[in-house]
Amino acid sequence: MMYEIAPRVMHNEFRVQSPKSSDYVIYTENNYVLLKKDSESFALPKVSDAESVAPGISKDLHYLFSIDEEAFFSSDENFAKENSEFELVKDRFFRTMPDMPLAFGGAVAAHMSRWEQSNRFCGHCGTPMQRKADERAFICKECGNVVYGKICPVVIVSVTWGNKLLMAHNLNNPDRKPYLISGFVDMGESLEQAVVREVKEETGVSVKNIRYIGSEPWPFSNSLIAGFTAELDGSPEITVQEAELEYAKWVDREDIGDYTGRLSISGTMIMRFKAGNL
Ligand SMILES: [Zn+2]
Repeated sequence: MMYEIAPRVMHNEFRVQSPKSSDYVIYTENNYVLLKKDSESFALPKVSDAESVAPGISKDLHYLFSIDEEAFFSSDENFAKENSEFELVKDRFFRTMPDMPLAFGGAVAAHMSRWEQSNRFCGHCGTPMQRKADERAFICKECGNVVYGKICPVVIVSVTWGNKLLMAHNLNNPDRKPYLISGFVDMGESLEQAVVREVKEETGVSVKNIRYIGSEPWPFSNSLIAGFTAELDGSPEITVQEAELEYAKWVDREDIGDYTGRLSISGTMIMRFKAGNL
């Protein structure tokens, strides 16, 4: 999975640290991230790149985290402005970057930067927010409102019926292959309750014997994804939620395609079921 970057190690504990010229700088506008053009592709800008187009910007950068000794910083402003060496690129680009630890670092830095950009003012009273000195959070000095990082939990579930796996194609997924049922956890429900509700809503199927498999951070949707298995409980008849899914169907183990590559927890669980190991 993307977050598994060993032997490299991510250090995301809160720290106050100054940038060095070889560290990385992230600037985001919604789901777009400012990257430096690099022959046919793009590279994460370094502090030296930012300094070359915006001298003195180093003192305004905010430390986010490190991977080994390489630190990632955020910038509140578009330091490249109209410079043609830089371009705003959709953050999904990180899913195709060859250097996986750097791609994961870029994606997480973009997640944190989006959170910073959308908390410049207190949502309660409108006062400009300040960074807390002792933890990764913003505080409103007017009303005391404290805002922590935004993580939206998602459940993903492999529903099995003997030798068959419940798979679906989401209307929003450009990838044509079917995947597992997934959805955001709602307020007031547990992860397990979210599994039951999402499967029922999207396919009309009931499940039992829910079992936790593992989790992965998924910065692209500000998420943490928790993976579960469940078994069919009752009728296998499917009623597709047409607003979300193009189709849902039971797929025999031997008919499941290839989901290897840069594995997500979704691909990992599908390949484990295919191998009889889930
Ligand atoms: Zn406030």
